[in-house]
Amino acid sequence: MNDFLDESLQGAGIDTLAVRAGQTRTAEGEHSEPIFTTSSYVFDSAEAAAARFSGEDKGNVYSRYTNPTVRMFEQRLAALEGGEAAVATSSGMAAILTTCMALLAAGDHVICSRSVFGTTTAFFTRYMAKFGVETTFVSPTNYGEWQAALQDNTKLLFVETPSNPLCDVVDISRLAEIAKTKGALLAVDNCFCTPALQKPLELGADIIIHSATKYLDGQGRCVGGAIVGPQALLEDLVIFLRTAGPTMSPFNAWVFLKGLETLRLRMDAHSANALDLAQWLDQQPEIEQVFYAGLPTHPGHKLAAKQQRAFGGVLSFRVQGDKAAAWRFIDATQIMSLTANLGDTKTTIVHPGTTTHGRLSDEEKAVAGITDNLVRIAVGLEDVIDLKNDLQRGIDAL
Ligand SMILES: *Cc1c(COP(=O)(O)O)cnc(C)c1O
Repeated sequence: MNDFLDESLQGAGIDTLAVRAGQTRTAEGEHSEPIFTTSSYVFDSAEAAAARFSGEDKGNVYSRYTNPTVRMFEQRLAALEGGEAAVATSSGMAAILTTCMALLAAGDHVICSRSVFGTTTAFFTRYMAKFGVETTFVSPTNYGEWQAALQDNTKLLFVETPSNPLCDVVDISRLAEIAKTKGALLAVDNCFCTPALQKPLELGADIIIHSATKYLDGQGRCVGGAIVGPQALLEDLVIFLRTAGPTMSPFNAWVFLKGLETLRLRMDAHSANALDLAQWLDQQPEIEQVFYAGLPTHPGHKLAAKQQRAFGGVLSFRVQGDKAAAWRFIDATQIMSLTANLGDTKTTIVHPGTTTHGRLSDEEKAVAGITDNLVRIAVGLEDVIDLKNDLQRGIDAL
């Protein structure tokens, strides 16, 4: 278990950890967690300063790498994920950067799911390749492809589940076994499920990546990220952070820290609304196909039911017609926000083919199933009847 947790919280449930874990109080006795807006810290004596700098005394030195508010967020997130430790970063992409810079070197090989966040793909192909780290992209649910891509120098397997936007569900335990045969690490981007719905470390993953920007905040206010995993592994990441500086700000850490308190409640509400809308859309003759792992007809349904506590807030669907029809559908909605962001209390709607996945070639889109008539929604916390009425406006415009 987490050695930073008080005895009273060892083995506590997710809702207790969400509001209690990681909090340290100052001598003022404040009930709620404060924001420590300070870049540096003062030392009692020259000797004390030396001890801090050498690491002999573990106290704060400089907020590029230690800040009490950031630490509270890291410990609370680690507790929720069941990890030994967490490291916060300035964004989700900075979490991926920090992981790769700390754990990989020129000559290493990565295997990455083809259905990951587009910027993640660009990061591996444009930048890691430039520094001599080669990446093989594989179809996420084709385990033979993962197996066949393994090389003696494979150091990292990287996956996102469920995938965006078609909700492919990948078996984390199975990938962990494949990674182990070469001593490679398995990193899971747990952005879509969060620890409220899925615990990758319990399923055998080595590292969890988060874009805190999405559900951890939950209200679309701040950009941030985090990595969760074993203490020994994360020490190298902390050294990178200290050296290179993609640090989370104390203010953002405070927003995420308070966001975690309601995470489980929100994820259950997002999931309930999304399931309701998916079932409703599935009944509409003008909708060709709905992609949501909560539907028994989805190929990932059984695995998701086993691996996740609920099915999450993101779904997509194909409307009857072409790109123009999908655009008419989107433009006819009045409540949903037309934005590519997700993980917000406000429902968002987007056309993946010309936005989030617009950089893919026609061939890559075909392989990924990103057709012109595909629409994605990230279901928020509005009354579901109002969301149905809004989608009906889209259907009427087809
Ligand atoms: C948004 C996102 C990221 C990147 O996070 P930022 O905070 O925007 O840098 C990574 N992975 C997934 C799955 C995302 O949705």
